[in-house]
Amino acid sequence: MQQETGLQPELPLIELPQANDLYGELEALWHRYANALRAFKSACETVQEAIEQRNHSEAVRQLDGVHQAAEQLFVMLVSGSLQELAAHFAAREQMLQARFEAGFCEAAKLGQFSINIDDNRIVDADTEFLRFVGFPAGMVVGAPVTTVFPADEWARMLDCTHAPAESGKKGSLTVRANGYDGKRAMLKVVANAVDSESGRILHGFAVDWSQTESDIQQRRLLAAAIDVSDRMVLITDRSQHIVFANQAFTHLSGYALDEVKGKTPRILQGPDTDQATRRQIREALLRGERVHAEVLNYSKEGLRYWVDLSIVPVRDDHDEITHYVSVGHDSTDRKAQELQIAKLALFDHLTGLANRRAGEERLQLEWKRAARQDGLFAIALVDVDFFKRINDSYGHAVGDDALQHIAGLIRSVLRGGDWAARWGGEEFLVCFSLTEGDQARPAAERLRRAIERSPLVADGKELNMTVSIGLVTCSARFEQLDDLVEAADTLLYKAKERGRNRTEG
Ligand code: GH3
Ligand code: MG
Ligand code: MG
Repeated sequence: MQQETGLQPELPLIELPQANDLYGELEALWHRYANALRAFKSACETVQEAIEQRNHSEAVRQLDGVHQAAEQLFVMLVSGSLQELAAHFAAREQMLQARFEAGFCEAAKLGQFSINIDDNRIVDADTEFLRFVGFPAGMVVGAPVTTVFPADEWARMLDCTHAPAESGKKGSLTVRANGYDGKRAMLKVVANAVDSESGRILHGFAVDWSQTESDIQQRRLLAAAIDVSDRMVLITDRSQHIVFANQAFTHLSGYALDEVKGKTPRILQGPDTDQATRRQIREALLRGERVHAEVLNYSKEGLRYWVDLSIVPVRDDHDEITHYVSVGHDSTDRKAQELQIAKLALFDHLTGLANRRAGEERLQLEWKRAARQDGLFAIALVDVDFFKRINDSYGHAVGDDALQHIAGLIRSVLRGGDWAARWGGEEFLVCFSLTEGDQARPAAERLRRAIERSPLVADGKELNMTVSIGLVTCSARFEQLDDLVEAADTLLYKAKERGRNRTEG
């Protein structure tokens, strides 16, 4: 302003006074105004006197003095007003800033730091900032920036600071900081770079984000857990170490949280845990996908139990997996039921032999094997003679016992590769695996005689039973399996007709 207006050096310069000496400055200014005004007035009077004395040359000379004094007064007034205004602004600004900063820093727990960009050293750090990272001041100020910020995070900060506003990169940045003692601190940072005498300095404001971030994380984890609170919940960190387990887990596994914390879920697995399922889970998790599986686990006491399990990766703001939440329920009963159903589907509940359906399937296999010429077999349809009489004379329960007794006798004569099925009420199908075609009849006769000779003992009485057998050896003359079975049935009927307790075929 001095050069623009051509002010003389002795004229007051516009300087921003400190708020506390504002009045002293104004008073001095006022004296200077008064003096300038007096000089102006006296110059005017001198001119006026010269004019009255008609001293033309003197009047012109004094008029220059008037102009000079007027200009000086004008400049003083203008600059004085500016100075006064500026002083007022400065005072108000300072007051507001102090109040604002105090309030804001207090509310936001704002920490400040400065880093020299030229030599990558920390120039300054206030106590709040030091508190966030947990370092003593002596270890931070003057230290390389990497003491507090990892190199990649420092690069991100610089990148953001230098980025043009329109790039959208400017603004706050969540930065990872090295806390003291190797702890990790998360800071939300706003920074700008300015040039100074000592180099280019990055000034940053930081808010402690660690707690906020862990709060968010905690809420995410809890939300996932609460959703399924009646289920078993196990949470591991990214390296599969257990960090949380709920009551349902403790109840099911027998392990308290303290006993499993820091361990991996491997401790829940045992010798019969399916390795393929384990691999499937591990591979899905490595891909960051959720998994659903049924796994066999072992309790602390070594008891086996099935868990129907869903494992979900949980990610942070940077889309990095931080935890895995496993939610599951005990599916042991269901698994047992499944096994039971499978068993029921294949076995006859009274005799424990294969049921008709399973018998038919097995027969199909024998048929196909024989067609490939790598198996020879014969089927015997075995029907109890006059079984109705047993039911009628002794009751249905004894009838059942009789069927179990016969099933036991059938089992006792089976040899390697032979098998039997309950084909109907008191009718059985026995499949003899043969090496020679003529082995079938002796095998069937052995069975018939075993039954004949082994009466059932019921209520202290001996109950004799006999069976009739229709026997057919599989051969090329049968086009279909059904033909073979039908032939056996026909022979059985023949055996009945011919007096029972005999083998036809
Ligand atoms: P045969 O075969 O010698 O001509 O005379 P049978 O008396 O055995 O005649 P049939 O085969 O027609 O009768 C079978 C009887 O077996 C009829 C049925 O009440 C009885 N039965 C079928 N299934 C069961 C069962 O699971 N338990 C009992 N106790 N009886 C059964
Ligand atoms: Mg019968
Ligand atoms: Mg019958």
